Amino acid sequence: GSTIGILGGGQLGRMLAVAAAKLGFHVHIYCPDEKSPAAEVARDFTKAGYDDDAALERFAASVDVVTYEFENVPASAAEAIARTGTPLRPGARALEVSQDRLTEKKFLKDLGIDTAPFMPVASEAALGVATEVTGIPAILKTRRFGYDGKGQAVIHDEDEVAEAYASLKGAPAIMEGFVPFEREISVIAARELNGTMMAYDPAENVHRDGILRTSTVPAEISEETWDRATDIACDILTELDYVGVIGVEFFVEKSGHLRVNEMAPRVHNSGHWTVEACHVSQFEQHIRAIAGWSLADPVRHSDCVMENLIGKDVDDWQTIGSERDAYLTLYGKKEARNGRKMGHVTRLKPRS
Ligand code: ATP
Ligand code: MG
Ligand code: MG
Repeated sequence: GSTIGILGGGQLGRMLAVAAAKLGFHVHIYCPDEKSPAAEVARDFTKAGYDDDAALERFAASVDVVTYEFENVPASAAEAIARTGTPLRPGARALEVSQDRLTEKKFLKDLGIDTAPFMPVASEAALGVATEVTGIPAILKTRRFGYDGKGQAVIHDEDEVAEAYASLKGAPAIMEGFVPFEREISVIAARELNGTMMAYDPAENVHRDGILRTSTVPAEISEETWDRATDIACDILTELDYVGVIGVEFFVEKSGHLRVNEMAPRVHNSGHWTVEACHVSQFEQHIRAIAGWSLADPVRHSDCVMENLIGKDVDDWQTIGSERDAYLTLYGKKEARNGRKMGHVTRLKPRS
């Protein structure tokens, strides 16, 4: 059979690997840690770093298609893979655009898609101009490598600016105006090789301390907002000549106006509910797309709430999993730390 190569060893890679195995593929994981959630369920595993071009080339040459479960794959890795002739899906441009918050916002702006007001902050001297553009409150974020709200500082008033900047330890940053959103939603969409696109129903997301807590479907939004969000996700997919699943996060303002917060060129935490509530999961959909198959109908048969199981405060996982209509997934992480995603549970209700 064909072999799917996945860069990255986290829970998203693990769930992709399981979905690929379900469809009869072999799976080869590439990541630096053999104890990672994905490595443990894959048939083949390469332990090496993302800057090891020779190892990357051997890995890519041994598989039929390469994909990734995190967006911080360096450009040099994408180039190493390209040298082997094995396709990288989604492609290098999707990585380049989404791994830097500034590049991402400029890309969206060029497409006519609204974001939070923003300004790059390359040095302390740039802070004043930045807050003039964004206003206060604002959020200062590192341009790269942030996730689960890490590398961010909220600025509530003028005297917090210097402290916020210091907390990022000189990393290139971006100042974002704080969007007074009424709710947050995300659209998980997919595009296949021939350009066909399909989207899941938008999820309504609640974050606490910068970390996703729950995704509820359907989101409480108007039909117009629903369609507009889906159209935006499809515009992004088309512009990137994308193959695979993407996650696009939105702020919804009281007026219904949408601003894109960020996008992830991969399967997304706010799409985990698709495993139990839909005909096809985001993981299976991604594998179908990158393998060159046609997409499956992402129709949803149930309403649901997905809840992340975070850190050490959840110790009754087995009990949760034994509840009726509660579907438990654990990631097999060796160590529970505060703020670490250990698993999730999706609770289903009949479709309203
Ligand atoms: P993820 O784990 O989703 O990749 P991240 O670390 O990239 O998270 P963001 O998505 O940028 O972080 O921000 C996390 C959350 O913080 C958002 O979902 C939102 O609730 C809040 N937030 C971020 N930026 C803004 C903003 N400009 N205005 C208002 N709220 C914001
Ligand atoms: Mg992010
Ligand atoms: Mg986010």
